[in-house]
Amino acid sequence: MLPLTLAACRANRTVQAPDAIPPGRPIILITIDTLRADRLGSYGSRLGLTPALDRFAQRATRFSAAVSQVPLTLAAHTTLLTGLHPARHGVRTNDRFRLASHVPTLAEAIRGRGYTTAAFIGGYPLIASSGLSRGFDRYDDEFLKKPGVVERPADDVVDSALGWIEQVRSGPFFAWVHLFDPHSPYTPPPPFAASHSGAPYDGEVAYTDAAAGRFFERLQRLDVFTHATVVVVADHGESLGEHGERTHGTFLYDSTVRVPMLVKTPDSSASRVVDVPVEVADVAPTLAALAGASLSSIDGQSLLPLIGGAPGDPDRPAYAESYYQNILLGWSPLRAVRTRRWKFVEAPRAELYDLEADPYERQNRIDDHAALAAGLGRALPAQPDSVAAHRAPAAAADSEDRLRSLGYVSGSTIATAATRAIDPKDRVNVWAAIEDGVDKMTSDPAAAQHAFTRALALDTGNGLALKYLGDWSFRDGRLHEARERYQRAIAAGFRHPDVFVNLASIAERESRIEDVRAALADAVRMDASDADAWNRLGLLEARRGAAAAARNAFANAIAAAPDRAEPYYNLAIVERRAGNEALAQARLRDAVARNAAYPEAQYELGTGYLLAKQPDRALEAYRAALAARPDSPEALFGAARAELDLGRIDEARRDYERFVRVAPAQYRQQVAAAREALREMSAR
Ligand SMILES: [Zn+2]
Repeated sequence: MLPLTLAACRANRTVQAPDAIPPGRPIILITIDTLRADRLGSYGSRLGLTPALDRFAQRATRFSAAVSQVPLTLAAHTTLLTGLHPARHGVRTNDRFRLASHVPTLAEAIRGRGYTTAAFIGGYPLIASSGLSRGFDRYDDEFLKKPGVVERPADDVVDSALGWIEQVRSGPFFAWVHLFDPHSPYTPPPPFAASHSGAPYDGEVAYTDAAAGRFFERLQRLDVFTHATVVVVADHGESLGEHGERTHGTFLYDSTVRVPMLVKTPDSSASRVVDVPVEVADVAPTLAALAGASLSSIDGQSLLPLIGGAPGDPDRPAYAESYYQNILLGWSPLRAVRTRRWKFVEAPRAELYDLEADPYERQNRIDDHAALAAGLGRALPAQPDSVAAHRAPAAAADSEDRLRSLGYVSGSTIATAATRAIDPKDRVNVWAAIEDGVDKMTSDPAAAQHAFTRALALDTGNGLALKYLGDWSFRDGRLHEARERYQRAIAAGFRHPDVFVNLASIAERESRIEDVRAALADAVRMDASDADAWNRLGLLEARRGAAAAARNAFANAIAAAPDRAEPYYNLAIVERRAGNEALAQARLRDAVARNAAYPEAQYELGTGYLLAKQPDRALEAYRAALAARPDSPEALFGAARAELDLGRIDEARRDYERFVRVAPAQYRQQVAAAREALREMSAR
């Protein structure tokens, strides 16, 4: 301990030797999504976007060569919060990956030391069902419960965090604050929209900085800031068109994998720069150590020695990877090592950059330094791994739509030797066209179709482009064309449950029932968590009277999406038809517990109660059905019958009269019965 303290003093008088910091001090981790290092004044920007973060940097250790292990939000944050490289925590992209429950997390380790823990989330990819919530006493992602919502502004995240910190600050606490604003789409709020009208990404950065500044000021007034460890780090940067990449996720250039990383330890009041390579995987062991905890056998290393003044290793091979296009399209994965000076990218056409001479990585120097490149390549794990086995169930029914609104695409392709030989940089135009199409899918469908057609022209047989074009044909009712496109996508190895589900719908409209079943069986074989496909398969089996097969399919739909009400309702109908009345009622109660505003389920429930001579409960269910659908003729008729049983004559009369007014022609018999009941009532 003593030599390290001396080193710290020599290097910088006011940085406390980190291993002398007693555990129990507050720990605050701020992750700013999609923040390029070169937008911060402390990293050399002249744009003036980050006054608050620059003031913060004056009291922090600034890591000038910090590397994100993967330029995608969920995967990078999983590394940040476990200290593990993606191959070990298993989360490779944002789509359908989930942190397995056996992987220890930083939050668990810190909580194990008596800390109160909370996370305040800004964007959809980090929703609790991603698995990152484990170890947090509070995981504030409630705003994502609203359908279609994908992000909230930094000011809201900061306010929520401050409210919590005010309550817990008397004891040890760990807060993770996730600010999502710089992520696309770039829509800075006023006044930042106007002040950065030509550069909305910069506007988002400036807005986020202002929110961070407000957070720091408030922490100071709460007397938390000085005693706290505060880390500011980005999960990845943003390409903004460099190397032909619009956003992030494909390539491993510094625009996305070199991230800002600032660490302020308790009572530190001066700045220091560490220029040796470090990884975002190092954050977890650092914070664990400050809490007096440890994470065993991880990939990251504690930064405390470097913060204390240790020299570090300029040749440490910091790791980065992207499997995004490998998973989606079967193309080659990219893996890289970055030292202080060099970067080696493993690819079908490998790359080597001298970052000191060429920070924008424009000149591939691999032919000049083959031995150096080979040496760096040996620092990579032996073989690129296969990621198919890691895929996990989707988080929510609308997960894919929400990810798409953030520019992320879903699906996967069975990789072959031929597809793995494709270098993503040789298909950069194809990917740009796909991103363009995804971007315009809602705002300008014609332009989006045009973009996917362009992608297909550049890359015949591109499964993703075929899938999206097939979706359009399907929606427009050109079913033959849709089928042809879907079948070409499947032939190209592309797999997506929508493709099979839509093929099933096409077969259904053409009354090819065996084809429907085959397509749905393909869909659930490909993705056993596809609740929609299971549910459709169940309906198909129920229609042909195969109760056991229908039950099995609905049970699988329930297992895949336990929050959804429809499979419970469908299961109830199967049981009712089979005469299992008690089971039917139980499943209907399950359905309305998940969605009280489900008129069909409430109606069936009411009917069951009426048959069981429980008119009070029947009436309650019919009323709930009417609350969801005020003119439901079935529910009006049922409610009137229940009211009659309960002797509530005026209400029964009112509901029968409404029923007679709204009932369609097929209820002729019931209308006659209602008229008869009304006559009897007026005769009393
Ligand atoms: Zn991100």
